[in-house]
Amino acid sequence: MSQSSKKMLADIERNVLQTSRYTGKHQLSSRVLAAMAEIPREQFVPAEEKIIAYADSPLAIGHGQTISQPFIVALMTDLLALEPTDKVLEIGTGSGYQTAILAQLADSVYSMEVIPALAATAEQRLKQLHYNNIHIRTGNGYDGWPEQAPYDAIIVTAAAPYIPPALIAQLNPGSNLVIPVGLPYEVQELLLVSRDEQNEITTKNILNVTFVPLVQDSET
Ligand code: SAH
Repeated sequence: MSQSSKKMLADIERNVLQTSRYTGKHQLSSRVLAAMAEIPREQFVPAEEKIIAYADSPLAIGHGQTISQPFIVALMTDLLALEPTDKVLEIGTGSGYQTAILAQLADSVYSMEVIPALAATAEQRLKQLHYNNIHIRTGNGYDGWPEQAPYDAIIVTAAAPYIPPALIAQLNPGSNLVIPVGLPYEVQELLLVSRDEQNEITTKNILNVTFVPLVQDSET
């Protein structure tokens, strides 16, 4: 592991401890941390940001969008409790960094991005990195990806004003949806929505977060 990704991992662990009174977590799964250590974040940021690629903060990726803070990527991935056989839906491909982490931990990842240029860049990048279990589609994630449903985990990496009903509908029993919910540019709540084996839905507030908005159409 490089010095910079070692530092990124240490920053993640510090953040986990600092937020433990909200999240109830004192450590993240070792599988998730191993994936974070293995996947080079510098490959997912614009050239001018490579030098700060391992900073524990979001970074601009163009089109007014950001690659999420590594701690938040790790926390959200941990909350999904992925198994190697899982089929995952991601809404908000962005740079494709979170997508790569998911692909490392699950069987297959279906990822939707509303901005065509970001979807194209992420797809090309992930192909170059030899991921063959990732499927990217340009479109509005509010409706999910019904043709491939149901999913064993769903992650939304942009903030929605409410939980899109289609996403709950596409979640398997015994599965988790992780989504930031709240108004744009205000503090949002990261929610863990679980469907149990009896199809009962429970929602848990995990942490206050700040995400770019999940837009209703592609005119951004
Ligand atoms: N996981 C990404 C986060 C990117 S930011 C990363 O770490 O790189 C959130 C992304 O969600 C942006 O790329 C934005 O264009 C996308 N997005 C916003 N609204 C969307 C929608 N309705 N459907 C799909 N993607 C959306």
